[in-house]
Formats: sequence, C-alpha cells, structure tokens
Amino acid sequence: MREFAALLDLPVNQVIAELMKNGIMASLNERLDFDTSAIIAGDLGYNVIEKEDGEEIDTTTEEKLKAILEEGKACSTARPPVVVVMGHVDHGKTKVLDTIRKTNVVEAESGGITQHIGAYQAKKKNCIMTFIDTPGHEAFTAMRSRGARVADIAILIVAADDGVKPQTVEALRIIQNSGLPFIVAINKIDKEDANIDKVKTELAQYNITPEEWGGKTIMVPISAKSGKNIDDLLDAILLTAEENKDKIVADATRLAAGTVIESHVDKGEGNVATLLIQTGTLKIGDPLSINGIFYGKIRQMKDYNGKVIEKATPSMPVKVIGLKLCPKVGDLAEIAKSTKDLKKVKQYKAEKMDKSKMIAKPKDKEDMKLFNVVIKADVLGSLEAIIESLEKIESEYIRVNVVSKGLGNITENDVLMAEASDAILIGFNVTAPHNISQVAQEKNIQIYSFTIIYKLIEMIKEKMEESLGEEIVKKDLGKLEVLAIFKTEKKAMIVGGKVTEGVIEFNPSKVETKINVIRNNEYITDGVLEQLQAGKQDVTIVERGNECGIRFAGNPVIETGDILEFYTEEKKKRVL
Ligand code: GDP
Repeated sequence: MREFAALLDLPVNQVIAELMKNGIMASLNERLDFDTSAIIAGDLGYNVIEKEDGEEIDTTTEEKLKAILEEGKACSTARPPVVVVMGHVDHGKTKVLDTIRKTNVVEAESGGITQHIGAYQAKKKNCIMTFIDTPGHEAFTAMRSRGARVADIAILIVAADDGVKPQTVEALRIIQNSGLPFIVAINKIDKEDANIDKVKTELAQYNITPEEWGGKTIMVPISAKSGKNIDDLLDAILLTAEENKDKIVADATRLAAGTVIESHVDKGEGNVATLLIQTGTLKIGDPLSINGIFYGKIRQMKDYNGKVIEKATPSMPVKVIGLKLCPKVGDLAEIAKSTKDLKKVKQYKAEKMDKSKMIAKPKDKEDMKLFNVVIKADVLGSLEAIIESLEKIESEYIRVNVVSKGLGNITENDVLMAEASDAILIGFNVTAPHNISQVAQEKNIQIYSFTIIYKLIEMIKEKMEESLGEEIVKKDLGKLEVLAIFKTEKKAMIVGGKVTEGVIEFNPSKVETKINVIRNNEYITDGVLEQLQAGKQDVTIVERGNECGIRFAGNPVIETGDILEFYTEEKKKRVL
C-alpha cells in the first residue's frame, strides 16, 4: 500500500480513501494485488501497465543516504541541526516558523528578500539551525513515502486551548517510529482558555511526560503570536542538538548529497528545486544525479535570502536553478564524480517510453495538482450538473477530482472521506444532521452548503486559485554588449556598452531590474541594475542601438565582450 502510494506520488490517505470507496479496507503495510491496484490507480487518473519480471526495485532513499553518510563518517564534523515542525492543523506550525524566521533568521545582506524555498536557517548564540518550512504535510508525506530522512529534531506543536488531536497523535507516531529526538511546544498560551497542564496530562496518556513531572520530554509553553518563550524553544533545540551531537555530523569535504525538499517548474527560471544538503559541499558546476540520471550541472544556487551563492555546506537549504528535469520531493540528490556513468535525460525518457514496466502517469497532464471534493446533493440531476461543471473548470495547473459523490444528507462517512483525502466537503440542497456537524467540527472539516449551482462553482474556483499560490514571472527586457569597464568595486562594477536587443529599463521604485552575465553563451553570474546613464545623464530607458553606462551590483567579474541580459521578476498570484 505504502509503496503503491509512493509509486503514484499521492498522499497515502488519498489512496486509502479511494480504496475505502471501493469497499476495501487496507492497512498501510498490506500488499495490494495487481488487479486491485490497476482499478484504484485507474480511478485516481492513472494508466497502469504490469511490470515485466527482472526489474530490480531500487533500494530506498534512506538506505542509500545511510550508505553515503557512512562513507564519510571518518571525516565527519558537526553541522547545524535540521528541525521539522509537526502537529495538528491550526495549532500554529506556520506561525512558529514565521516568528522564528522574523526574530532569528540569519541576516540577509541589505536589500535581500527572504524567499520561501522550503527551509531556512536561524541563529541563536552563534549556533545555526535549519528549519524545514513545509509543515503542510503533503511535502512531508512525499518525503516519507520515499524513505527520505531529513530532520534531526522534531518540534511537536500542541495548542494549549485545543489539546491533543488526531494529527497530534499521528505526528507523535511518526516521530516515535523514526526515533527522532523531539521537543513539545505548547502553543497559544496567550489565549484565555489555554490549559497547559491539560495538554501535559493528555500527552501523558501517550507515555510522553514532561521533565518537570519526572519524564524525559522537554515541553516549552510558548506563544507564537506574541513571541513569548520562543527563545526558550530555541535553547531547547540547541540542548537537544548538543545531546545528539554524535549523530548531527557530516563530511563537508566530499561530493554533496542531500534530499529534494521542494520542487516546481517556474515560468522564468525553469525547473527549480530546493535541496537540503546532508553531506558534502555543493558547488557551482557540479553534475547533479538523481537515481542515476543526469539532471544537469548546477548552474546557479541561491540561499533562502535569495542571495546567489557559490557553494552550499551540510544542513544548508539551497535553491538550484536550471535543471533539465524537475525532481520529486523526497528524491535523493547526489553529485556524481563525472557525468560519464549517468543516463542522459533523453535516453532516460526514451527508455521510459518503450519499456513495458509499471508506469503510473496522470492521464491528461503530468504533475497536475488535484483539487479533491466530496459532494452530496438532493437529486441526481443537480449532482450530475455540478460534477459536469466542476470537471469543466479549465486550468493548466489543477483539476477537480471528485473523491466521492452521492445523494442524500451528509453522513459520517462523507466527513471521514473528506478528511482522508484532504477534500472539500460540499452539500447541495442537503444538510448535515447535528451529530455529523459535530464530528466534522471536531475533525476541522468545514461543510459548505449551497442552494445555487453557480455560487458553488464560484467558491470552488476561488479555493482552487487560493491553493495555487504565487509564481514568479520573468520578463526579458533587452541585451547589452559590454564594450568598456569603467570601474570595479568590491561588489559592484560600472561598465559601458551597446544595447543589441530590446530595451533596458530602470525603474527601481516599481520593480528591480536584474542582470544575467553571459560569456560564450554560458551563464557566469547575476546581479542588479543600480544606475543607468546615457551621455552622463541618469535615464530610465535606453533603446536598442544606443550606448549607455550602467552600475551593476553583484559579483564584479564582467569582462568586455560579455553579454548582459536585463530582465525583471514579478510575483503574481496564480490564476486558473
Ligand atoms: P498550522 O495549521 O499549524 O500551520 O497553524 P497556523 O500557524 O496557521 O495557525 C493557526 C491559527 O492560529 C492562525 O490564525 C494563527 O494566527 C493562530 N495562532 C498561531 N499561534 C498562535 C498563538 O500563539 N496565539 C494565538 N492567540 N493564536 C495563534
């Protein structure tokens, strides 16, 4: 079951829900036969072909990573601890991460913009800690389903006004199964109905007892909102790291290896991924291999401050840009000694096409996000009309996936289904009996009721857009050939040249103009336009065919003959 979900790249609970829908109650470790798998995968939008014998299944990521870490053990030195935040929805995972980020983040150079790349680093008493920034458990489930192990320490958040909830118990189980050292953060202590002792008592039922009651677990009461005791929480992390220092090590001298913790296709930057370096040092030009396939040389790296960096050391999260393929969250990324033994992307894709191994691929579009809904209506006519309209919502990123549908009032099963598949629960001209509303409330599942179809569709569209987040849109402006270097400073240069394509625009109050430095068709570095002059006058625009001088802020390595590419990047909300 677990393997099957991993193969489909879907959260386990979605697969469980699909099985439940077909009347099959399967546990995580149960084996599914081929026919069942094929039907379920088909329902989930995949085509399934049976794998031929003779194909060895890869060892898991965790085993591979273990072997790599073992290799470098002799030369290992301390590295920052990697911390993951877990807990029930709405208990404050995001807020805690934001508060730590705001108060303790390792300073960006002036002008740097913190970027959400899936992780960031914070500093306390000169000790650096890495925080995984994706508590949304989808990414974490994906990592776990590939056997990736990224964290050294977990923080289990429990809201003091809400206590231990199903996802708290689930998180606890995950933490205990993986043997992760952990700290409990009892959050929201600023709230009137906060009851710290009640949380401790509830946790004691799971054999988690606080130090002050003679147990082993550090529990820190905090308010992520006011920032109260966040310092104590960081101290507790450092203490736990110190206690586990023999495990929090890596060999910074070897070739890098790490786990993909975030990845997406960006319109401007192409395939983008965040790697958490777990051992070794990643450098520009290194050939990246995932599962023996050559994903491209590391052309550019940025840290979570958006700063271009030349190398990344153990425990650093780093965004890598310009890969040939988009890796999956949880993939093990390794730097190869050379590209010689790696499969080329083309060759790999071709192989994937003609070998009849078990292929699981969305029917319509690769990597399309599913927006799950559970829907109940009063009559078949309305139900069909709604589903038809929902399936017609067009988007290149996301589509509606009806996890379950039916006639009549909302039942407990509908609520469970919505919970298991992270779906939106909708009732059209039907209601939920009081006891069912209560179950839904306990599980934090909102029931949306409608009597007008177009309002229902509008709401779904809105929710779908919300789930898409933002994208960075790159706009190319123009190119300049560098004809003269006027001045070289530590972190800036003044150069002159001729605009050979497009225009150069300088309007810093509106949007920053960025510059890529290209030499012999290869990317060298990038920077920012700080001043634009034509004939000694400051100007805001220079068109093709004209000469101008610019002040470039960045690595001062420009040479005459280089081509500078000017562009802007704007954040835009994704729309359907
Ligand atoms: P997550 O689902 O676990 O990531 O929870 P969020 O961080 O999104 O928090 C859920 C809600 O609780 C938000 O409205 C937060 O503003 C609020 N919240 C988080 N921490 C605190 C806290 O310490 N005190 C209070 N009063 N509210 C908090």
